[in-house]
Amino acid sequence: MACLFCRIVSGEIPAKIAYRDDDVVAFHDITPQAPAHVLLVPTRHVSSLNDLTPADQELVGKLVYRAAQLAGELGYAERGYRTVFNCNAEAGQTVFHIHLHLLAGRSMGWPPG
Ligand code: 5GP
Ligand code: ZN
Repeated sequence: MACLFCRIVSGEIPAKIAYRDDDVVAFHDITPQAPAHVLLVPTRHVSSLNDLTPADQELVGKLVYRAAQLAGELGYAERGYRTVFNCNAEAGQTVFHIHLHLLAGRSMGWPPG
């Protein structure tokens, strides 16, 4: 069976879509950790950052670029925002289809927990 985020990409599972093109889908996190919390995923399944190949470098750039564009559209460019990829257990990855978290709208601690 397709993974959770592949099913959101296909529309089989509903999500609040913020952006979509052939390569990238962005949707609002179901359990937001900040006033704005958007997940950006490639339309093609890649399980974790460990599975990226050299051919995926442009795709990752598209995720980061789109996160910055969305942050601006949502009004957070100047205030600031955080982008995070979690990879595997110690980082807290729970869905194994790579996703870039875009978090904004509150002060963020550093170092992250
Ligand atoms: P991770 O912990 O893997 O970095 O992030 C997974 C994220 O996916 C979590 O922030 C979680 O709230 C979000 N999430 C899990 N299931 C769903 C879902 O069905 N819909 C949406 N929109 N987000 C989800
Ligand atoms: Zn997937």
